[in-house]
Amino acid sequence: MVQTSARVISRTWLRKIWTGGQTVETCPSFCTDNHRNDDIGALDDLQHGVEFEGPELAVFNVEDGTAEWPVLAGRINVDPYNEDAKRRVPHVNLNVFKDEVMECLSPDDFAAVIAAVRAH
Ligand SMILES: [Zn+2]
Repeated sequence: MVQTSARVISRTWLRKIWTGGQTVETCPSFCTDNHRNDDIGALDDLQHGVEFEGPELAVFNVEDGTAEWPVLAGRINVDPYNEDAKRRVPHVNLNVFKDEVMECLSPDDFAAVIAAVRAH
């Protein structure tokens, strides 16, 4: 489920870059990140995004017994200064299962994943 509770007004702030200079950053409309630690950093460290939850399934583990684990949770993300052009536009990082991530899914990539899961 996409978190819709936090329709955030656009936020703009001055950001100092470690290697020198500064930038004026503005969150895209979907961003719910707090950016508490983004007033200074490496240029390409900045990300904007919103997390989305997935359903929790009771999964058995020999050492820990049965526990609820989220599946298909993720984040709509953008890395505005990344050297990879695919990461400079909004994309999905999908946590298929704990520690198992499909990174940088385009809308078409994400639709293919949804279709595969739905077909299964
Ligand atoms: Zn942001």
